[in-house]
Amino acid sequence: MKDHIELQLEVIRYEQMVERREEKIRELKNVIDSYDQNDMFTFRCWQCRSELIWGGDHDIQELYEDELDEGIVSNFSCSNNNCNTHVEVYHVFNQKNK
Ligand SMILES: [Zn+2]
Repeated sequence: MKDHIELQLEVIRYEQMVERREEKIRELKNVIDSYDQNDMFTFRCWQCRSELIWGGDHDIQELYEDELDEGIVSNFSCSNNNCNTHVEVYHVFNQKNK
């Protein structure tokens, strides 16, 4: 009969298998969703097609001291933990730097 620690390790191994399986299912569903013509409003990762998650906004002039244009920089991160993609969206709404 297996001892207590061996059984606990076996449980952890099975739990990790379940987590990997769930991650793979999430990735596949993201790819399937990205082909849906009705899915026009989801901002998707250029690298893996997973959904990008909004992280926050910053004033452009707050980020760059000598910037004359007024606008907002929005940060997004890929929801796929294995992807490590970060996206910044620059929206200039008052261009003074011509
Ligand atoms: Zn990605």
